[in-house]
Amino acid sequence: MDLSFILNEFAEDRDSYFRSVAPPIVQTSNFAFKTIDELRHSLEDEYSNWLYSRGLNPTVEILRKKLAALDGAEDCLVFNSGAAAIFAAVLANVKSGDHIVSVREPYSWALRMFNGILPRFNVSVTYIDGRDIANFEKATQANTTLYYLESPNSWTYELQDLTAVTKLAKQRNIITICDNSYCTPLFQRPIELGVDLVLQSATKYIGGHSDAVAGVLCGSSDIIRRIFASEYLNIGSGIQPFNAWLLIRGLRTLPARLERITRTTQAVLQYLQQHPLVESVLYPLDPSFPQYQLAKQQMKNAGGLLTFVLRAGNMETIEHFCESLKHILIAVSWGGYESLIMPRCASLQPGAFDAANTSHRMLRLYVGLEEADYITGDLDQAFEQIRLKS
Ligand SMILES: *Cc1c(COP(=O)(O)O)cnc(C)c1O
Repeated sequence: MDLSFILNEFAEDRDSYFRSVAPPIVQTSNFAFKTIDELRHSLEDEYSNWLYSRGLNPTVEILRKKLAALDGAEDCLVFNSGAAAIFAAVLANVKSGDHIVSVREPYSWALRMFNGILPRFNVSVTYIDGRDIANFEKATQANTTLYYLESPNSWTYELQDLTAVTKLAKQRNIITICDNSYCTPLFQRPIELGVDLVLQSATKYIGGHSDAVAGVLCGSSDIIRRIFASEYLNIGSGIQPFNAWLLIRGLRTLPARLERITRTTQAVLQYLQQHPLVESVLYPLDPSFPQYQLAKQQMKNAGGLLTFVLRAGNMETIEHFCESLKHILIAVSWGGYESLIMPRCASLQPGAFDAANTSHRMLRLYVGLEEADYITGDLDQAFEQIRLKS
């Protein structure tokens, strides 16, 4: 299917809603029946009928079909957050006594689920450096049922060789889940590389305007149908019609936004790489990146998220740099229209900062839709502020 067809036409049916160009927000909790027999059928098979909007909803349906097509997947569920998509996907694939192999430092709420919730149900997790396929083999036990992947991750951009990992998983009957938030399906299609379930936070690029929280989970009809009937309906965290409508709107401009952001990011990268106060820059599609070859092979492009290491002797300098920015906002998240900064030291306990530890001096920059000069100009005056102070 053409990308433009998916984003502009696919799954929309204007004849059924007044030929309106924008689809309607079907803001209803429930659907009415003419006969008890129809109602009975819907109760028996909620996945094929409009019954109740915790399950299916017509606005959400348009979004689900478009997102599945984007990922090259058979089917898709959209949740009220990326975290809910992670929760449902993992929960659906473990039982008491099972073991998960996860990449080290996965997204923070995946980590919290693994460390805080799953042990209560006798499910254990081993964290590995996923850059080396041998580590998957080594960590796999007889009771391993799940590989949890995130490629690249959203701080240091470590990749897994998805083709190799999924090949190994298939030999052992292990399900693979991959967080694809960094790339979106436009820049990486993990299903085509063999991944069973691919998820992303739609809060980021899909929504694209920092005004809606949502998550996407794609996979085969079998798996998705099973998750719908159980975890999806039971957790009750499906996306609401209005937010689904916002995401459909976000999808219309996704390629244009990503193209612009990727171009601007190149200019920002070049600026940072020549700056004397920048020790190093991490970006998967920069030739200096340790896994550059794999990134080139596996990803079409890389978007607007990068990390740089500031030459700073103390935490105050890093804080002063961030607080000196006039346009780039200090905030979590990314993928919206606005550029953002997030220093790693914000997650450190007081007194834990160690300037000798490179990771403590990392700052994650998200490059938004502003002009390149506007962003580099802002960075430039903030560098100047800390240079004057030291
Ligand atoms: C934001 C994010 C999530 C979680 O998504 P929410 O929509 O915030 O719940 C998951 N994975 C990655 C990599 C993220 O950046």
